[in-house]
Amino acid sequence: MKIAKVYINQTNFSMDRPFDYLIDREMESLIAVGQRVMVPFGYGNKPLDGVVVDIIDFNAGESNGYKLKKVLGVVENYPVMSCEQLKACEWLQSNYHAFFMDNVNAYFPGTLNIKTKKDSDLKTRFYLDFKIKETIQYSLACEYRDLSLDQVLELTPKNAIKQAEILKYLYTGPKTREELKEVIINPNQAIKSLLTKGILLEAANKESYVHPKKLIKKPDLTPDQKNILSEFSNSVDRVSLLHGVTGSGKTEIYLNMMEEALEQGGTCLYLVPEISLTPQTINRITERFDQKAAVIHSRISDKDKVRQYLEIDKKEIKIIIGARSAVFSPFRDLGLIIIDEEHENTYKSQNRPRYDTIPLACKLAEFFNAKVVLGSATPSMVSYYKASIGAYRLLELPNRINCMEMPRTEIVDMREEIKDGNRSFLSKALYSRIKDRLDKGEQTILFLNKRGYYSFVFCRSCGYVIKCKKCDVAMTYHGKTNKMICHYCNHTRSVEDTCPECKSNKIKYSGSGTERVQALLEKYFPAARVLRMDTDTMKKKDSVQKTLELFADKKADILLGTQMVTKGFDFENVTLVGVLLADLTLNFPDYRSSERTFQLLTQVAGRAGRGTKRGEVVIQTYDPGNYVINHAKCHDYKGFYDKEISFRKTHEYPPFSRLFYVGFAGDDMKSVKKDCESYHRQIKVELEKRNQNILIKDVYPPSPSGIIRINNRYRYYILIKTSRIKEFNDIIRAVNFSDETKKIKSTMIVDVNPNAV
Ligand code: ADP
Ligand code: ZN
Ligand code: ZN
Repeated sequence: MKIAKVYINQTNFSMDRPFDYLIDREMESLIAVGQRVMVPFGYGNKPLDGVVVDIIDFNAGESNGYKLKKVLGVVENYPVMSCEQLKACEWLQSNYHAFFMDNVNAYFPGTLNIKTKKDSDLKTRFYLDFKIKETIQYSLACEYRDLSLDQVLELTPKNAIKQAEILKYLYTGPKTREELKEVIINPNQAIKSLLTKGILLEAANKESYVHPKKLIKKPDLTPDQKNILSEFSNSVDRVSLLHGVTGSGKTEIYLNMMEEALEQGGTCLYLVPEISLTPQTINRITERFDQKAAVIHSRISDKDKVRQYLEIDKKEIKIIIGARSAVFSPFRDLGLIIIDEEHENTYKSQNRPRYDTIPLACKLAEFFNAKVVLGSATPSMVSYYKASIGAYRLLELPNRINCMEMPRTEIVDMREEIKDGNRSFLSKALYSRIKDRLDKGEQTILFLNKRGYYSFVFCRSCGYVIKCKKCDVAMTYHGKTNKMICHYCNHTRSVEDTCPECKSNKIKYSGSGTERVQALLEKYFPAARVLRMDTDTMKKKDSVQKTLELFADKKADILLGTQMVTKGFDFENVTLVGVLLADLTLNFPDYRSSERTFQLLTQVAGRAGRGTKRGEVVIQTYDPGNYVINHAKCHDYKGFYDKEISFRKTHEYPPFSRLFYVGFAGDDMKSVKKDCESYHRQIKVELEKRNQNILIKDVYPPSPSGIIRINNRYRYYILIKTSRIKEFNDIIRAVNFSDETKKIKSTMIVDVNPNAV
């Protein structure tokens, strides 16, 4: 007899380990590692689903007379989890304290998660039963895509009018049969004869697949690019860091690396920080390769996801583009992972499972013997440090393509402006430069990391700041709705004329957000067409795409927005970038605020002067001597890095340590505090047990979060900053599983190297 080690599909600490179940002899040949099974659980023997992670021989002598229950049956008749996937789940469990089944479920589109299915019909086979309605899609055969329309029309006889109509229509891009039918009456016969002649291609349509419209020829590589590619191909390093200024040709290098990996039969995963903000990159990839590419992110439908997963699983799709969740695709032969803009914090998941994409990608690459390329103009401190000690191969591209110059940058001291009587959000320098661009028909990008109209409202009489009733934060006034909105819980309240505290009517609105700046820009420059890009204006699904298209078509003069506008857009007519208040991110209470500000400033500056005209950047600040701003001004990554890394070293922040954040939240402040203290006590006990009392210095005492209350939930946390990673991983796991912790009522999370501390 055999024993199956089964993780049951429940996510809590007591279930976060495998349970033993006997496999009946007649079932032995049906059950393998990675398969989903149904098992009885608890006193009631309730049937629950789970995943088999190991199968061992049953040794009656070792069972201590304890009677094992038996596996009831299988969910699918084949393993749904590969051995690499199971290993990744285990790795996330032990390094990120993520529940094993949360990791498993991250691999499954929601509907495949059996938990959502009420009756546990053992014969349900989700994968195979999943109804996939395919629509047929037609496109021009590849060899004709580079022809002119006239040349294409010559492929069919002159009298075949319908065929010509179809070709004309398809020349603009692939179309479904339904779309063709809308434009052309009874097209079937004509389609058929075009297919027979090999002029058309027929494929099952994947709505979220991107099919190449027209293949773009690749440019000849520059000598720098060639050197980097050959260094990369010849190296055996698992991970490379490609550091190149904005516009240095990194994307072109990724495309060449992919080409090589595909030739060798490997699947390529290309990760971007956020799908909706990277339409240009996605187009560049899909235009380059004459094969299907899947685009995966958390907002596509489960149905599309299942379809794509099936094809990845069958190795029919070898190019996967996606946001971080695409790292949970069912690869079979991964060859290359590219992580573009690797410094972006969207690569760290802030929901369960709270993984970090880069280490996970490196782990996957190890399982598959694949390579990872991290790329950025402003690599994260952690990645650059790893490259500097040789853990990653450092590939550097110091110059822009065609020797385009980096933009000229000016820092403006806003204190001087006030002294001169200018209380506006625009310095004189930035005002005159915007005006100059408007006169010349060139475009401007303005960055302000604050949305809304006025960022806070207070009483000049007693100093009371109007706060959200559910959170411990100031409310933001939004002009469009004429309401105050809490940016943490979205609670809204109407505007008051009198102070709720002292009843005086000296209510003052202060602090400009993007909404107000847009209104003011339209007042200062009446002829200017201003587009605003922030989460308020970008709520609709395709609004980002539309805004970018308008701007690219020069239908607007100024693009104003929050950090959305700092991303990798490439507009050749943008010659001016203005940072309205650099201090906003600089003063954010987090040990990475300098790194983050340097990245934002450098990235946004990189949007200026991408065409033939040199760009200009104006950074407004109340802290003009700040080293972060000055290194950004000089495009001096290395100078910034050297200074910042020594700060990290002195204060033992990552990469010289790891941060474990253990957070507690609940409705009642006292009990949240008590739970947090109980956890802290247990860490101490565990340290004593291990004779490691000395390490208590790595554990910060329980403290209230920066914003103690959000959405009526109080928050406390413990921070562990340590270089003794293994010890603390063990200790945290021990505490998580303890009886004391079972009594904790607060919601508890463990977050490793979280985005904000
Ligand atoms: P990055 O990703 O570093 O910002 P890109 O790869 O986007 O840089 O290159 C910047 C610009 O230069 C793009 O418009 C790209 O098409 C162009 N480019 C890149 N490599 C070459 C090359 N070898 N020859 C000509 N143009 C190139
Ligand atoms: Zn007051
Ligand atoms: Zn709130």
